[in-house]
Amino acid sequence: MAFERINQKDWYKVLGAKPSDSPAELKRQYQKLALLYHPDKQEADVPAGEAEERVQRFIEIDQAWKILGNEETKKEYDLQRREDNLTKEGPLHAQIYLEEMSWNEDEQLYTLSCRCGGNYSVFKSETKEVSLVCCDTCSLVVEILQ
Ligand SMILES: [Zn+2]
Repeated sequence: MAFERINQKDWYKVLGAKPSDSPAELKRQYQKLALLYHPDKQEADVPAGEAEERVQRFIEIDQAWKILGNEETKKEYDLQRREDNLTKEGPLHAQIYLEEMSWNEDEQLYTLSCRCGGNYSVFKSETKEVSLVCCDTCSLVVEILQ
């Protein structure tokens, strides 16, 4: 098993999913994307360059699912991710796109779990001025990109 290679990509991102998503959610996300990018489902008039990109995307989605769709490899990958995160230096935890955060419609709030178990949160109304958000539990900071 070539586990040393599986950490090259953020497979959750490839699937448009989050590490906290359930296996059922991951599967649903995989099926949606696989259908969207499946080579057999492409329009005939898509430009060659774009068709090629879509094939690449499909291969990635498929790889992501091979890792995240299997309980054993998913566990291994999650462990690697966690270790990677813990060895990152500096107070800046990560850069993250707003749309990668969890959206809470009722509170009009974007949230993200910190590796310490705490949360980053930013109200929608603040997102125009705020680009750095502190964890509510530890001293880590994320930079929000939009
Ligand atoms: Zn924290």
